[in-house]
Amino acid sequence: MQGDETREDRSGGPSPAQLDDLRADLLVDLRSVFLGRLLTSVEDVEPFVVDWRRTWRGDCLAVVQPDSPADVAAIVQWCAARLVPVVTQGGNTGLSGGATPSFGSGAVVLSTTRIRAVRHVDVVNNTITVDAGCTLAQVQEAALAAGRLFPLSLAAEGTCTIGGNLATNAGGTAVLRFGTARELCLGLEVVTASGELWDGLTGLRKDNTGYALRDLFIGSEGTLGVITGAVLKLYPLPAVREVALLAVPSLSDAVGVFQHLSAGLGQQLVACEVLNAACVQLVHANTATRSPFSVDTPWLVLVEVNSMRADQSARDELERSLAGLLDASRISDAVIASSSAQSELFWALREEVSEAQGAAGPTIKHDVAVPISLIESFVERAHTAVSSVTSDVRFVTFGHLGDGNLHYNLSPLPDGDPLAFRALQDRFNEVVHDVVRACGGSISAEHGLGVLRSVEADRYRSTTDRKLQHAVKRALDPHGIMNPGKFLPAATNH
Ligand code: FAD
Repeated sequence: MQGDETREDRSGGPSPAQLDDLRADLLVDLRSVFLGRLLTSVEDVEPFVVDWRRTWRGDCLAVVQPDSPADVAAIVQWCAARLVPVVTQGGNTGLSGGATPSFGSGAVVLSTTRIRAVRHVDVVNNTITVDAGCTLAQVQEAALAAGRLFPLSLAAEGTCTIGGNLATNAGGTAVLRFGTARELCLGLEVVTASGELWDGLTGLRKDNTGYALRDLFIGSEGTLGVITGAVLKLYPLPAVREVALLAVPSLSDAVGVFQHLSAGLGQQLVACEVLNAACVQLVHANTATRSPFSVDTPWLVLVEVNSMRADQSARDELERSLAGLLDASRISDAVIASSSAQSELFWALREEVSEAQGAAGPTIKHDVAVPISLIESFVERAHTAVSSVTSDVRFVTFGHLGDGNLHYNLSPLPDGDPLAFRALQDRFNEVVHDVVRACGGSISAEHGLGVLRSVEADRYRSTTDRKLQHAVKRALDPHGIMNPGKFLPAATNH
């Protein structure tokens, strides 16, 4: 969805007169502390009330830019005393509308991007302690400077923040080997919904002294508290990185390729990504990046192998595995990158799909996870279900094959009617997500629920699951001020 059809979430909220009073109070109470960091004019708040894809737009009472966890606590206390909603925003690269304030809700947007110090690197414990507003790239660089790897990696890493990564439990390209953001986090510091600072900044790998509060905050999309700091795991830097691009006849072959490589290469296999021909065609049409194979190759698989041994052994093993796959006709061609520049080029082919699809017109996105054993069956059944809705559809299917996470996206055909296509969005979502559920999958793998999927996710929940989810929300945010209407549907927040 592009800017011209930006959605406005018009949830109920205070009247314009009440908003004016609240804004006046805010200026009196906080302006002296947050001089130059309390934004209220329409122009100043504009970048904070529209999401990255320009799909959602809202408005707010003000944007506040705290410099420290203590600042965050002061803001949340002010909001809690007046039941003013708090929408925490990091890099604003989220794809589900979670960081966009709802229209007319009178929320304060709390932007974390000025809380961005790397606090401490412990190379013996293999941990890094950072402020939540550090960008992901900043954390990767600090790890590198200490001779370590922080393996979380995604295309928005120059802008997205660690706080946002943890709040959405981000995935990215190395989940296969290192897990999601949750698995990379040992400790958290959080400002609670009442404005207290909870110090859970432990760097321990083992700690069974209470409920796992850290894990409640991770993935809760700013609906339980504001993450202000984190202790993250570091890993040794690999000595060798090999990236290969494989031309594959079918999705079934792609799954076979993954099985073969993971059995042969074990933990050396860091990433296994997949993209269909439509993805490559879109990248060719809308970017300067080129595939080494024909644009009609049905599927491409991108693999990355890392090794701690600074010799040829990883490349030799990869070459042997690929030769086996060629012999078995699982792949029709393969190129192992001959330089780091070519490795980046192969990755660009994969990472530019989203933007290329966006540039080509309307996109309906599905960020789904299914067991790897059912990926092929899922795609077959979903194609049938979508084709029963309309034949004006282009299947743009790509994602993290090794994690069972597909971005099962739909576009209209190049000569199709974009408006008629967009009008079918709810129907597409329903049929695709019904197939996901039938496969025992998840309708939200790594992009978060935000406002995009909150209602649908709730619909698929069992009664017990729904009760527990809402009980957690009530326990940690009894007045419902933390990012209301996101993650859990607004009407059932309490
Ligand atoms: P924001 O967008 O600012 O916020 C996202 C959510 O987190 C909101 O609900 C917000 O309220 C909450 N939040 C933010 N900071 C905090 C905090 N400190 N405390 C509490 N709550 C907070 N995601 C993936 O998982 N894998 C990918 O491969 C991937 N690729 C992407 C590629 C592109 C080009 C883009 C634009 C996005 C991609 N994303 C991907 C999505 C996005 O980058 C991630 O969701 C990221 O983790 C969001 O971080 P952010 O700082 O931008 O968060």
